[in-house]
Amino acid sequence: MRPYNFSPGPAVLPEPVLERIRHELMDWNGTGCSVMEVSHRGKDFMAFATRTEATLRSLLAVPDNYKVLFMQGGASGQFAIVPLNLLGDKSVADYVNTGQWSNKAIGEAQRYCTVNLAAEDSIGVPAFESWRLSADAAYLHYTPNETIGGVEYHWIPESGDVPLVGDFSSSILSRPLDVSRFGVIYAGAQKNIGPAGITLVLVRDDLLDNARPETPGAFSYKQQAAADSMSNTPPVFAWYVAGLVFEWIVEQGGLAAMENCNQRKADVLYAAIDESGFYSNPVRPDSRSRMNVPFTLADPSLDSEFLAGSVNAGLLNLKGHRIVGGMRASLYNAMPEEGVLALVEFMREFERKFG
Ligand SMILES: *Cc1c(COP(=O)(O)O)cnc(C)c1O
Repeated sequence: MRPYNFSPGPAVLPEPVLERIRHELMDWNGTGCSVMEVSHRGKDFMAFATRTEATLRSLLAVPDNYKVLFMQGGASGQFAIVPLNLLGDKSVADYVNTGQWSNKAIGEAQRYCTVNLAAEDSIGVPAFESWRLSADAAYLHYTPNETIGGVEYHWIPESGDVPLVGDFSSSILSRPLDVSRFGVIYAGAQKNIGPAGITLVLVRDDLLDNARPETPGAFSYKQQAAADSMSNTPPVFAWYVAGLVFEWIVEQGGLAAMENCNQRKADVLYAAIDESGFYSNPVRPDSRSRMNVPFTLADPSLDSEFLAGSVNAGLLNLKGHRIVGGMRASLYNAMPEEGVLALVEFMREFERKFG
């Protein structure tokens, strides 16, 4: 049996997807080539790309007035690509800061516009009533799931006529989502979609004409939409794996099934932490992430013992982010429930021995 991989990203992929990649590697789709070796504009890959978009559209119920783009540059690229494409002739954007990734998005946006910090908090989502939104914002940006701090919104902000932008890198496809509430949704692939190197972007089509003139063509939503995300050579292998992951999610029962499973996994782990008196999670209960669960040990000098023991128990990559310390378990879609049960069992055993 393979070990359980709790890495925050690049992260665990569904085993059936890995098996299928292995099976198809030497001869993809009867082409006699691997998918990495075929033209992105050839009929085989074009058909695959069309099917992949259709699968994603049905999974997320993407309305017809949204473009689905596959871009490069990761979520960090989008930190700049969003302001470049959405500011138009405006000079202010609203941002909510709930942790490390919000903070990086803000830092990048400040190169292009005045950032109005609408609200901030790092151990929970700030109550919407406290947000100070500007009247003339080009858009409102927030981070639905802070991968490092483990803070997740369980509601969607109401931005009125201002386009809402969400960095869904670590929570996309983990539950159903009302896409129609957003102007732009983006997500780097390496948490819940596939390998690093491809970035999913959903953009409402009335926003395509708001780009700053200096926007690089490869990073222009409008140009990529017009070229089916092939304005330059796309990372075909990452795109291919993403397509297989979308199909796997459909086979599991879609996003409602993902949500149920993710909720059960998170409930089991948070309950184990809260009941222990030995482990603790710093996030306010109403804002706890179902995808990334940071926790600390009552005695940090036991951290290395915990990590060594967890690896021996087949539980990998539990070390917390260096700025938070402690542990972090990432419970993306591809983490099976058995993995979380094994982790909880290990934690109880460790507490019995050392707690
Ligand atoms: C991982 C992550 C990023 C950074 O993604 P890159 O693809 O490495 O640029 C940004 N935002 C969130 C919420 C993330 O989880």
